[in-house]
Amino acid sequence: MFLSSLAIANDGMWLPLLLEKLNEKEMKSLGMKISAKDIYNVNSGSLKDAIVSFGGFCTGEVISTKGLVLTNHHCGLESVQSHSTIDHNYIRDGFWAKNFGEELSNPKLYVTFIARMEDVSKQILTGVTPSMTESERQSAVDKNINEIKKTAKKESYQEILVKGFFEANQYYLFVTETYKDVRLVGAPPSSIGNFGQDTDNWMWPRHTGDFSMFRIYAGKDNKPAEYAPGNVPYIPKRSLSISLDGVAEGDFTMVFGFPGKTTEYLPAVAVQQIMEVNNPAKIAIRDKALAVMNEFMRKDEQIKIQYTKKYSTIANPWKKWRGEILGLTRTDAINKKKIYEAEFQKRINLPAGRQGANPQWKEQYGNVLSELEAAYAELKPLGKARDYYFEINSKIELFTVARRINALRNAKNNGGKYDYAEGLTKLKDTLPDFYKNYSPVLDKKMFEVLISMYVNDQDSKMVSPLLLMQINAFNKDVSKLADDIYGGAEYTAANKIVPVLEKNPAELLERTKTSKASVLYDDMLATYNREVASKLNEVQNRINKLQRLYMQAQMEVMKERNFYPDANSTLRVTYGNVKGYNARDGVKYDFITYLDGLVEKYIPGDYEFDVPEKLRSLYKTKDYGQYGKNGKMPVCFIATNHTTGGNSGSPALDAYGNLVGLNFDRAWEGVMSDISYDPSICRNIMVDIRYVLFIMDKYAGAGYLVKEMKLVHPKKGK
Ligand code: ASP
Repeated sequence: MFLSSLAIANDGMWLPLLLEKLNEKEMKSLGMKISAKDIYNVNSGSLKDAIVSFGGFCTGEVISTKGLVLTNHHCGLESVQSHSTIDHNYIRDGFWAKNFGEELSNPKLYVTFIARMEDVSKQILTGVTPSMTESERQSAVDKNINEIKKTAKKESYQEILVKGFFEANQYYLFVTETYKDVRLVGAPPSSIGNFGQDTDNWMWPRHTGDFSMFRIYAGKDNKPAEYAPGNVPYIPKRSLSISLDGVAEGDFTMVFGFPGKTTEYLPAVAVQQIMEVNNPAKIAIRDKALAVMNEFMRKDEQIKIQYTKKYSTIANPWKKWRGEILGLTRTDAINKKKIYEAEFQKRINLPAGRQGANPQWKEQYGNVLSELEAAYAELKPLGKARDYYFEINSKIELFTVARRINALRNAKNNGGKYDYAEGLTKLKDTLPDFYKNYSPVLDKKMFEVLISMYVNDQDSKMVSPLLLMQINAFNKDVSKLADDIYGGAEYTAANKIVPVLEKNPAELLERTKTSKASVLYDDMLATYNREVASKLNEVQNRINKLQRLYMQAQMEVMKERNFYPDANSTLRVTYGNVKGYNARDGVKYDFITYLDGLVEKYIPGDYEFDVPEKLRSLYKTKDYGQYGKNGKMPVCFIATNHTTGGNSGSPALDAYGNLVGLNFDRAWEGVMSDISYDPSICRNIMVDIRYVLFIMDKYAGAGYLVKEMKLVHPKKGK
């Protein structure tokens, strides 16, 4: 029964150019009224021309002929934060530009369109042989990629990107167009855009207005251009129409966007390791890191502005990993994988002559699972040490500075990994921004807490000997050591370091010999390299190679399964139906939420559940304009679309390709969908587009923006 369900599972993040061949029929059977060509077509405008990769980490969609782009609040948050001060606190109060002139530029932000894509597996794999080591293979592939970049057809303003799919068994080329002048148009206050914060994150029922709005600017020729005040709003090839009709249970929806990373084809042993070793290690460290941040953010408004984005960057995966363990456990994912693997092995071992037997399989794939098992056993302790090292190191910000200055020193001394001049420019560019959002008191506490974990929770072999000595010198009192290191540290203040970097960087590099942070960082890194990194690389390379073979084998042997490539931040379509679900015994969730539920959650003055006065009064008077339905204001809805991080901000489209929602999250019970999708409980969460427009128009008074959009009523045939 389980194996036959493989063929009908609702999962998949599909390549737009293959929809016609692989998915169109099923999409239509689920209710789609348009064709695969309406979604992806290189020769004439199609829906794909309205979809952008937003900053490389989220998705956005063009919703007006003047280049308005919609994405999530949490995707635009860094931009909102960069324009916020105590006096103009746009995170807390929201922001709306009243005209083009008030739209705010964001030097590091960009959006990328996909002009076309193409299967180039043959060209890229020319000269690649199975006996090659991973690095030999990579060099051969890189060489072919460079070649194809030179010869592929493209316009001067376009770029070429080549990516591996199915564990690098296949390769696709993308012709991209990147616009670098993307200005902030508006965002609701975080009490709307991030309503419910961490308590509600990854949860259904949900009431978050998770959206923000930007505008793409282009040169006078409508082509990509660096930021310039004289740039003009971009005129898109295609912008999405917006349906005001909402969704009903069972309606077809699809989500178009750039999902980041999934690992759907891992063997059981790998999933077990994630559940029992890696996720728990990372969760434990983040538990402590978040507690430190929380403590300071709650009592200091300045720190709250500085750390809002950092906090959510740490908290978001932290909570998901916890849900992942629960979901994998509840759906018995490991056992299901084991049954699948047994069937796979059985087919491989079929004696010659039997129906379905292939005598070559045994030689080619006979040992792949057992070799994976052995390799993952070797990975186990190394993977844990890696997680400890990187989780801890990346959260102590003093080490972030030390790492970058030390890297610059290495570049200077021995022509290290990256070029000195380039590194220096980058550091000068980014360090002042870093200090804008840095609190040394918070960071010192972080050091105390996390260094204690680094020392106490691991095999002492993995711990820097210098650090152990220093801690002993302070009678094992880490807080004394923290006083010592942070007390005189030059790296804790912009005014001690930025001027030196500007005037005489060589002098700063000299100080890496005396700076306690630099010296300690060096020793921690050296310890990690010695005890973990080189062995880990070897095992990981072996695993990568085996995973590729296993992927190839599954596609050959388990033919009835619908294979789609794991997410890799490239453009995908996923589709399904609007649908509630049974969360657990006796609990059934509806597919939609309303403003009533938001007001029920309201806790006056609360950090997460406060509701602005204006929204409460709109609720009281039921002043929903054209956006409400039957006296109610829809807020969010769920469907069976298979999404992941990176799909944040993706459009949810109806059967005709109209925008009905904005994807922003998944429901708790099914967040393990990155590893193992289960159609009975995996749901993506979208904010209803009518709520987005209601907030803009009725709450924020930015109805002039709605006028730029094309509103339609497909259910009324309009
Ligand atoms: N809320 C998620 C994110 O920001 C989106 C998802 O993974 O479904 O990563």
